Order: sequence, then structure tokens, then C-alpha cells
Amino acid sequence: MHRQALIVGGGIGGLCAAICLRLTGWDVQVFEQAPEITEIGAGLQISPNGVKILEHIGVMERLEPAVFEPEAIEIRMGVSGRPILYLPMKGVAAQRWGARYLQVHRADLITALSARLDALQPGAMQTGCPVRGYAPCKDGAEVILANGRRIQADLVIGADGIHSRIRHQMLGPDAPRFTGNYAWRALVPAVQLGALAPPPSGCIWAGPKKHAVTTYVRGGLSSILWVLSSKGLGARKAGSALEIGQMPWRISTAGPRPSWRYSHRQRRCTNAPSLTGPHCQKGRTAM
Ligand SMILES: Cc1cc2nc3c(=O)[nH]c(=O)nc-3n(C[C@H](O)[C@H](O)[C@H](O)COP(=O)(O)OP(=O)(O)OC[C@H]3O[C@@H](n4cnc5c(N)ncnc54)[C@H](O)[C@@H]3O)c2cc1C
Repeated sequence: MHRQALIVGGGIGGLCAAICLRLTGWDVQVFEQAPEITEIGAGLQISPNGVKILEHIGVMERLEPAVFEPEAIEIRMGVSGRPILYLPMKGVAAQRWGARYLQVHRADLITALSARLDALQPGAMQTGCPVRGYAPCKDGAEVILANGRRIQADLVIGADGIHSRIRHQMLGPDAPRFTGNYAWRALVPAVQLGALAPPPSGCIWAGPKKHAVTTYVRGGLSSILWVLSSKGLGARKAGSALEIGQMPWRISTAGPRPSWRYSHRQRRCTNAPSLTGPHCQKGRTAM
């Protein structure tokens, strides 16, 4: 009988974990709270080490039609456009690191990961399925859904993002810290920008307490991400970023936990004082 893993969260991390486990013979179930996979996000940069993994787990062939291979990684001055750094990537990354440096729309990556998982194990991801927490049990651990249903398995993995309930339950309160920065994203057909279209690179446009990142996705859409500190927000309220109509993301960070460890049934975490509670000594839960 296959070993069974329950994964909380169907983002990039949860889906990759599910595919990897499935490829090594596990039965997997992913619980995603969102009712459906929607077009969230904009351009993502995938570095060669990430591309290698996606190739290895059989996702690249699905993703290939959606990727853009940029010429370079650049840093420029935000206002003047003066180049500060130029690292050639196209043709170079594959030679140097064994895989390309790519750009893709986040939604296309999630779609390719979900499709790959579904091909490996149909119906493995359940959307509209918020998880309330987990509990250790005799032969493993169980996930407790928001509707009260309990599902048992050999392993529970928390991949539920920066506001993770699983991490909170396992390691105690850990409110993510607001960095003071907000981000907006927009997709603009590059042809409409004419001479102002960003270069075909992954370009950081640097400015005081703010920066923008431009990438290309979906055969000619320029993806623009602005990051502004909250101090610069007032001055920007009438600016183009808000006219695009996107709600800003608050950029938060959760610092490393000094006692971040996996726990295993009946194993004492002697070097991790905060992991000696009942949830950590019994049941298998990983983060
Ligand atoms: C502005 C910005 C730009 C970025 N650009 C890049 C980039 O260019 N390249 C790159 O590699 N990375 C980039 N990152 C980082 C990258 O987006 C994250 O590292 C990645 O999305 C984390 O994935 P995750 O699956 O761990 O978490 P998330 O993407 O947060 O996914 C967690 C999932 O869990 C679900 N969930 C949460 N709670 C529950 C619950 N209780 N029950 C069920 N489901 C739940 C959520 O709905 C979500 O789908 C960027 C991040 C930001 C903020």
C-alpha cells in the first residue's frame, strides 16, 4: 500500500511537494482553501536551479509554451534608465548552470503544476477546502478541515504560505512582520508602450525607497511590479500604479524560526525546546 501524504496549501510549494512525493510513490491529497485556481499574480522569474527542478519533475513540457527567455538580468536607475548592471543570461545560463533563466506568469506556473499533479494522480487537489489545523494520531497525523472532517495519513505537510496555520499550531504564534513595503502589479501589452517598452530582460529599476521589476510573459505582455515603501505611498496615490486598479500587496516577512525542525512520531526533539509539545512528539508533520 502506498504511503499517504496530506498537503495543506496548493501554491507553488504545495503543488511541487505533491508532485515530488507522487513521483516517489506516495498517494497525495492537496487541500487548497481558494474556491478555484484564478489568475493571481503577474510575472515570476525562475532561476536556472528552479527550471532544473521543473524539468526533472515533468512540469517544463507543459510550461514551455508560456515561458519567456530573457536576454539578461539588469539593474537600471529608475528615472534615467542608466544601466548599472547587466548579466547576460540567454544562451549563457544553460551553459553555465545547466538550465535557462525564464520568466512566466504565476498563473501559468500554477496551472502547469496542477495539470502535472492531476496527470500523476487525478483529483489529488481539492479546492474550496480550508484546513483548520492538524492533530497527531496513532499511526500518523490527521488534517482537520474547516467543516470539521478529519482525514488521516502518514504525513501532513504545511505549505500554507506566510500566514500558515500549520506553522502557527506547530511552532506557536509567529505573526508575519509588515516590511513597510507595498507592491502593485500590472500587465501591459508591450506594443502599447512603444519606445517606453521595457528591455527584454529581468530588469530592476532602482529608486530611493522604491523599485520596479519588469519581465515579459505570454508572448509580449510586459509585466510590471512596483514596490514602494509606505512612506512613499501618499505621494503615489494619484499615480499610475493605482489607476491600473490593482489592490496593493502588503509585503510581509516571517523571520526564520530558531527551532525549525521536522518532528517524527515518538522522536524527541531534544535540541528544539519549543517542539516538545504533544503535536511534535506524536504524528508526522513537516513544514
Ligand atoms: C511581490 C512578489 C514577487 C515575487 N517574485 C518572485 C519571483 O520572481 N520568482 C520567485 O521564484 N519567487 C517570487 N516570489 C516569491 C514566491 O511568490 C513565493 O516564494 C511563493 O509563492 C511561495 O509559495 P508557497 O506555495 O509557499 O506559498 P503561497 O503561494 O502563499 O501558497 C500558499 C497556499 O496555501 C493556501 N492556504 C493558506 N492557508 C490555507 C488553509 N488554512 N487551508 C488551505 N489552504 C490554505 C493559500 O490559499 C495558497 O494557495 C515573489 C513574491 C512576492 C510577494
